[in-house]
Amino acid sequence: MARIRLDHIRHAYSPELARAGTYALREVDHAFEDGGAYALLGPSGCGKTTLLNIISGLLTPSEGHVRFDDRDVTLLTPEARNIAQVFQFPVIYDTMTVAENLAFPLKNRKVPAAEIRTRVADMLRRIGLEAKANRKARGLTADEKQKISLGRGLVRSDVNAILFDEPLTVIDPHMKWQLRSELKQLHREFAMTMVYVTHDQTEALTFADKVVVMYAGEVVQIGTPEELFERPKHTFVGYFIGSPGMNLLPCRIESGDAVVSGARIRLRDGAARVHAGQTTELGIRPEFVRIAPRGEGVPIVVDRVEDVGSERIVRARLNGNPLSAILRDDHAVPAEADAVFAPEALNVYADSWLVERG
Ligand code: ATP
Repeated sequence: MARIRLDHIRHAYSPELARAGTYALREVDHAFEDGGAYALLGPSGCGKTTLLNIISGLLTPSEGHVRFDDRDVTLLTPEARNIAQVFQFPVIYDTMTVAENLAFPLKNRKVPAAEIRTRVADMLRRIGLEAKANRKARGLTADEKQKISLGRGLVRSDVNAILFDEPLTVIDPHMKWQLRSELKQLHREFAMTMVYVTHDQTEALTFADKVVVMYAGEVVQIGTPEELFERPKHTFVGYFIGSPGMNLLPCRIESGDAVVSGARIRLRDGAARVHAGQTTELGIRPEFVRIAPRGEGVPIVVDRVEDVGSERIVRARLNGNPLSAILRDDHAVPAEADAVFAPEALNVYADSWLVERG
């Protein structure tokens, strides 16, 4: 396994696009630690697959270097990088049996036959296909075929990293959860460096130790699920993670307060360090907005209350700005309501980036 260093990577798909300044990856300068489980999360078109293909060697970046530990692999083929890849659609040999498919990458690498038998038997058990070991892959379901693809990636012990590109897309919803837990378990046991592309936040947050949030060709934050929830570094992270996402209220900063369309909200850490000309927003998650009787906070207009089973979501407006709050109790929502913000959960953003406290 290896530490993967992405050293000032930029990528444009053609010289014309580069000249026009249209980069699929604008600048990525980060490292994935040896043995870490990372998810690349972001909306369609943000550059996840481009970055994964640069790590695997399917694509050479326009600028920058890829290093596996201390070795520069930027110009090496995927084979020479010694990585395993699992794609959206299963890549297996239909005419081979399940066991032969799993044995194939090991045979290619001249692993001794006895070891192949042991490893294949172990993997068959892990992916729950022992009973079908000697069946041709052709007749299997999409789920089963994708399990073989996963197994073929995981059966090798010599790989530098395993890369997954939306591997659960074709999997039945109830199986997704099971396979994700299985992957997590395998990661714990073997501590392999895993990079997993998805646009599904549940998938990313449950699989990864660290989630790499991408937006418009950039990595906007790498953090644990808690960090992304509690301190989103960029407004996109606040909006994208969580349901509903973080409230973002356009504001100006004035003597230690955030002023949202005339409503003053005290900032716990005093004046945020905002420069003249920056666009400022106050961010607060709906979980930390309390709906209170008039007089306790800032006045809001409640538009509706949505019951989503485990909780209720209040949709309101603060001087015209949309505001959501999550209610975890059965208390009635007063007609004349105020919103009270938990001071420690208030974040100020300047030009979309978090203004650090202090
Ligand atoms: P998705 O979730 O839809 O797969 P993604 O986050 O993986 O999206 P990429 O596929 O990496 O995004 O695409 C990033 C940008 O690069 C997009 O604007 C896309 O249109 C562009 N792009 C991707 N592949 C090519 C290509 N072969 N030629 C030109 N532009 C491309």
